[in-house]
Amino acid sequence: MTRDWDAGRLDSDLEGVAFDTLAVRAGQHRSPEGEHGDALFLTSSYVYRSAAEAAARFAGEVPGNVYSRYTNPTVRTFEERIAALEGAEQAVATASGMAAILACVMGLCSAGDHVLVSRSVFGATVTLFEKYFKRFGIQVDYVPLTDLDAWQRAFKVNTKLLFVESPSNPLAELVDIAALADIAHARSAQLIVDNCFCTPVLQKPLALGADIVIHSATKFIDGQGRCLGGVVAGRAAQMIEVVGFLRTAGPTMSPFNAWVFLKGLETLRLRMLAHCASAQALAEWLEQQPQVAKVYYAGLPSHPQHELAKRQQSGFGAVVSFEVVGGKEAAWRFIDATRLISITANLGDTKTTITHPATTTHGRLSVEDRAAAGIRDSLIRLAIGLEDVVDLKADLARGLAAL
Ligand SMILES: *Cc1c(COP(=O)(O)O)cnc(C)c1O
Repeated sequence: MTRDWDAGRLDSDLEGVAFDTLAVRAGQHRSPEGEHGDALFLTSSYVYRSAAEAAARFAGEVPGNVYSRYTNPTVRTFEERIAALEGAEQAVATASGMAAILACVMGLCSAGDHVLVSRSVFGATVTLFEKYFKRFGIQVDYVPLTDLDAWQRAFKVNTKLLFVESPSNPLAELVDIAALADIAHARSAQLIVDNCFCTPVLQKPLALGADIVIHSATKFIDGQGRCLGGVVAGRAAQMIEVVGFLRTAGPTMSPFNAWVFLKGLETLRLRMLAHCASAQALAEWLEQQPQVAKVYYAGLPSHPQHELAKRQQSGFGAVVSFEVVGGKEAAWRFIDATRLISITANLGDTKTTITHPATTTHGRLSVEDRAAAGIRDSLIRLAIGLEDVVDLKADLARGLAAL
């Protein structure tokens, strides 16, 4: 039997294969050149054999590319690979994680609709909802992530979408995604989960009942700090308007970034397992230190939602937050005493990062809002990278010694 790829089909048989195989091979449409790697199509437009073929493509009568704001073969490979990994009918790539959120709301909501957002979401997500979506008549309310009764109470007749991050940043709170999806569906609303912290390696929100999953691919999907990107994945029927908005407005993914993310996906599971193993070891070690008042990591039995995390996720992620004894001054002294770990607010990198949420990522919140969110001045957030865990422990020990 020969393998035919001239028709743009993949030559591998992916029927029933496992996650790691999909992560390496799904979505590749090999060109007649027979390239083994994923081809990078740096082209803005496409040519046709005749005026009639151009007309048929533009009319959508025959499949094929028209313009790279609409489709691009490299971006399509990334979209099909993510869809395979998330178990989605369709995925569409975006210029950034924020563009993924923008596309969901612009595609699925109209002025007068109501959206419920979990209280502890990414800072720019709050700004997008508070400052911009509200300006266009979308109503927004915030709900404590873990409190299912509060979600029930927050519904209005016009509630259209629920938007959550689980686990949350930086305190690693969870929501029972299956239960929240049931609550949303009983009120004809849709649940969107930002799966950035877990990636499809550790959590599959669609399988749990969520309607749409979004990512900042900038974080673990790249995982190596190189490119910005995002993705929205869900059922094909829901994606029509999301895709329509992206194609029209244009915050789509560049083919070069898609190519980088394809490389990232190939190693995603290996990297996530390494992140999780080091994060678990360091969380357990930090919890034993007398200078550490509290550790927030769902992999610890002391975490109030440890059982839910074990049920809902297949690992606990790379982000470990902890409070030191003493306030802001002690936290800053700890951070400044480290020598290896990068002092930066970014995360999802091979390099471990350390940040003081109260004065950086959450610094713009009022003191009251910060207190309500549980972000104390003594809180430090780590995003564990891929360095040797012995070296990371030694660096954190420098921080402890400075207290
Ligand atoms: C970084 C991040 C975003 C935004 O993604 P960008 O790619 O920076 O636009 C959204 N959600 C979460 C959870 C993030 O960490």
